[in-house]
Amino acid sequence: MKNLDRQFIDNLLSNIDIVELIGQKVTLKKFGNNYKGLCPFHAENTPSFNVSSSKQFYHCFGCGASGDAISFLKNYEGLSFYESIEKLAKIANISIPETVSKKNYDNENLLHANYIASDFFSNNLQNNKKAKDYLLSRGITDDLIEKFDLGYANDSWDGLMKELQKKNLIKDALEVGVLVKNKDKIYDRFRDRVIFPIKNTQEKVIAFGGRTLNKSESAKYINSPESKIFFKSAQLYGLFQAKNSITKNDKVIIVEGYTDVLALHKNNFNYSIATLGTAFTKSHFNKIMKYTKNIFFCFDGDEAGKKAAWKALTNCLDELRDNVNINFIFLPEGKDPDDIFNEDVNLFINLIDKSTPLSEFLFQEVEKNKNIEKIEDKSKYIIECIDLIKQIPKGVFKTLMEEKLTKIANINKDELYKYTSKFDKSDKSDKSDNNKQIDDYNNEEFYILSILIEYPNLISKHAAKINKLISNNSAKKILNAIINMKEQNQKINISSLIEGFPDNKDLINNIFKTEIEDKNQDSAAETIKTIIYTFQKKLDENEYFDLLSKYSKGIKLSEDEKIKLKNFKK
Ligand SMILES: [Zn+2]
Repeated sequence: MKNLDRQFIDNLLSNIDIVELIGQKVTLKKFGNNYKGLCPFHAENTPSFNVSSSKQFYHCFGCGASGDAISFLKNYEGLSFYESIEKLAKIANISIPETVSKKNYDNENLLHANYIASDFFSNNLQNNKKAKDYLLSRGITDDLIEKFDLGYANDSWDGLMKELQKKNLIKDALEVGVLVKNKDKIYDRFRDRVIFPIKNTQEKVIAFGGRTLNKSESAKYINSPESKIFFKSAQLYGLFQAKNSITKNDKVIIVEGYTDVLALHKNNFNYSIATLGTAFTKSHFNKIMKYTKNIFFCFDGDEAGKKAAWKALTNCLDELRDNVNINFIFLPEGKDPDDIFNEDVNLFINLIDKSTPLSEFLFQEVEKNKNIEKIEDKSKYIIECIDLIKQIPKGVFKTLMEEKLTKIANINKDELYKYTSKFDKSDKSDKSDNNKQIDDYNNEEFYILSILIEYPNLISKHAAKINKLISNNSAKKILNAIINMKEQNQKINISSLIEGFPDNKDLINNIFKTEIEDKNQDSAAETIKTIIYTFQKKLDENEYFDLLSKYSKGIKLSEDEKIKLKNFKK
């Protein structure tokens, strides 16, 4: 990043109140010098998400999410770096100088290539009777075509390529994969296919799915390859179109394919989305948690469907906080949602009502192919259940699952723990208790840095002395950077420190997330004095023992040293 940009960004950040910004999305309560709330980046019942007004920094002791106003917008709203800056500039009423160019930050050209392609596919569909007829025959109406921006890729090798060439976007189009290069030949990836644009939650097209209309084509569906802007296992099809309904209805239905999403939206289940041919992952889970905690998975009733459901269950067990509610809907074998709607919408409503809660599905699946009347099977069953339940975070839900297992197994809870020593592994990984434990560095050294950042007015008075006493080189570098920032009247912010010392990112993060116990500047000044005193004492002690050892080895001491040795107070 150029210097000038850094200046602009620092100035921008100093004109933003992070508490106000985050407070619009997360309910925050004052807690000491900081604000606390339920973390928007992971599911939790007790607040471990801290926002510091003085440090303009947020940190979650549960999941480790942390950063400044820019990273909050990036992570919470899915904005790019530049978009975050744009949004903050708007809030602060500051205009962005031309030197802070969009091109430097973003994948703007990649998104533009997809945008042009999407537009091109959409126009094609309007002019192609075959594709239109196909969609109509599948019950996909104009409303749906519009809502999901469906398109059609002509049966041509270079239609889109020529269009992108005109806009000088060939390189970017190759990078996002709408074009393919093979031995110097560049051609369209999607040919004779109905196109499903995949959008991020900001309505930007990040990839495409294409269904072939050619009966002899072996690949029924193909997707854009993964790219800088498209990570398959983190994206959900239809989330942009569904997100408001998901919030409003406080639930989401997750289906398996593009056309399933369309079928559900057509029948007013507007809160439906799909994974993109991958298993349901933690990233999916955390993305959804921003909108609702009530998830209904809808899978085929066959073996493959059960397997996918099981994968989804095991992938999110360790995220299952008490208020998360996961249910599984299994469709009658061989039927997709559209078939069911064609019979009767009420059948689908019944399936939702009869859906299996995760708590039951877990025990059902483990019991499958076992006869728990037999001791051999029963012991296997218990161990497998324990292995799963121990991944659930501590809470009411976990306790109830343990109780259910003890009932099924007809043993008492203490005995359960005997079967595996690692029973409460997940409790240990609960990071919230570890916030004070920071490895490798002297705690006092960076506690003092945390205080200086929280109360920058104390810097000028104490910095020189602290500088002499700090022994850790990284801490010293950061202290000097802080002193410089203060001298130049800059607000001390985490992003410019990290930019200045990328190798010390962890240390800087730790300094920012350390909670200061001092509630005001006077008390903080006292703490600094105490720490300086202990530092000094330690140094004096070391010196004393050095001298003592010199003396005892018969090495001659200078007059000064003799006086020091004599006057040392233990
Ligand atoms: Zn968190």
